[in-house]
Amino acid sequence: MDKKKKIYVTQPMLPDLNNVLPMLEDVWESKHVTNFGPYHNKLENELARLLKADNLSLFSNGTLGLLIALKALDLEGEVIVTPFTFPATITCIEWAGLTPVFCDIDEKTLCLNPDLIEELITDKTCAILGVHVYGIICDVERISEIANKHNIKVIYDGAHAFMSTYKGQPVSDYGDATMFSLHATKLFNSIEGGAVSFKSPEVKTTADLMKNFGINAGVPEITGINAKMNEISSAIGLANLNILKQEREKREYIKNTYDSLFAHIKGVKTYSHILSDSLQYYPISIDASLFGLSRDKLMTEMGKHNIFPRKYFYPACHRYPYLKNRKDIIRMDLPIVEKVEQNILCLPFYGGLIENGLDRVVEFFSNRG
Ligand SMILES: *Cc1c(COP(=O)(O)O)cnc(C)c1O
Repeated sequence: MDKKKKIYVTQPMLPDLNNVLPMLEDVWESKHVTNFGPYHNKLENELARLLKADNLSLFSNGTLGLLIALKALDLEGEVIVTPFTFPATITCIEWAGLTPVFCDIDEKTLCLNPDLIEELITDKTCAILGVHVYGIICDVERISEIANKHNIKVIYDGAHAFMSTYKGQPVSDYGDATMFSLHATKLFNSIEGGAVSFKSPEVKTTADLMKNFGINAGVPEITGINAKMNEISSAIGLANLNILKQEREKREYIKNTYDSLFAHIKGVKTYSHILSDSLQYYPISIDASLFGLSRDKLMTEMGKHNIFPRKYFYPACHRYPYLKNRKDIIRMDLPIVEKVEQNILCLPFYGGLIENGLDRVVEFFSNRG
């Protein structure tokens, strides 16, 4: 294949247009283009069933879903959070008027280190916000124990954890709310979109009001915002449900291919043994002294072959220029995050790669191995 063709970390899963058009014709005909139309309601029900989440609500994107979850849970004060995440996690805490408290991660799981959480709890702490990063599931049992003991809430950013399970249970069984992103870069997408699974039906009801300006039966009842998913996104989500299984099978194949490749390459650590079944990312960690190249030099080399992996998440959130010197943000020493962010890399990982470039990625590493 063409070695000049650029290979990126992902490509959106898109349905055959012919399967979307009849739904669009329907929307055009009905003029019901947004505001809880039939496609919105159908997608919400189908996702609730697929994810085994009784109180699931759709949003225009995952970030607004997470923000509304924090508001609907009526939180006030400090939120203990991992800095090893996408900016949206921290953005939501700030927009909800809450204070981020950065807690270090566990080097093995890359998620919040439960051993460090309790020392950060004060009388202002209202919640723990964990991220199931790359689809690696947080230590949800320990986090629940700590939260119960201190009577605080637990929210998960499960943007990478669509269809993930923990000990056979759907991941959203843990915590007061779990957000799934349905953005185009996520395996299952509605172009832009989000879904939040709530533990309590009452909190879902509040969140549903909030996403529609707080309006109940025509009258605003609470302070809301606009975060509704429209009918076109919903239709694309429904069409994507039909090709989800296929995409997952392809990613499973790529995951196995990468696993065998790296089994023989020194200095490349994989995470397959702890990645849950979301198949969202394929992260590796580079040990420069064993591999012979640092992560950044490896990226430069791959770039010369037109392969562009991504350093999710670099820099970690606590080092963003706008947050670094903020006095109101609380942080412990974060040696593990600051080590991990230097070494981690997400490889190209999407179904279409099998036909278009997987051989090039394999060849690149084989020639170095
Ligand atoms: C993608 C992502 C989000 C944001 O989701 P959107 O649907 O794009 O708003 C939040 N957190 C993490 C960890 C993400 O990767």
